[in-house]
Amino acid sequence: MADCIFCKIIKREIPSQTVYENEAVMVFKDINPVAPTHWLAIPKQHIDNVADPRLLDGSLLQSIFGAIQHLAKTEGLSENGFRVVVNCGRDAGEAVPHLHFHLIAGRKMSWPPG
Ligand code: 5GP
Ligand code: ZN
Repeated sequence: MADCIFCKIIKREIPSQTVYENEAVMVFKDINPVAPTHWLAIPKQHIDNVADPRLLDGSLLQSIFGAIQHLAKTEGLSENGFRVVVNCGRDAGEAVPHLHFHLIAGRKMSWPPG
């Protein structure tokens, strides 16, 4: 999508610090981290959010969680634990309308979220 920030990051029109990438998924550092590790895992295909039915097409979900599991293992996130967060819509605080999974780790977190 032409005016989508995350599509521009995928096309390298906006710089980002890439953590992991394959043909379907990109993971990069959040520009405003809320924890020592705060990455965003996004599909390269533009999908609005987790309510978008295209999420269930093909093997997209498998690719996203494959990337998350790969990073949890190779970056040692599983040791102390980590959180995967998906905000969908206004009440949840979704600010960028391109599906993204927050991968947050490196500090103790509270529950429930605010
Ligand atoms: P949301 O609130 O939509 O779930 O999360 C959007 C996230 O994208 C926020 O944590 C915000 O810091 C991050 N973000 C917004 N614009 C950029 C950007 O241009 N680059 C990077 N790396 N992260 C961004
Ligand atoms: Zn997009």
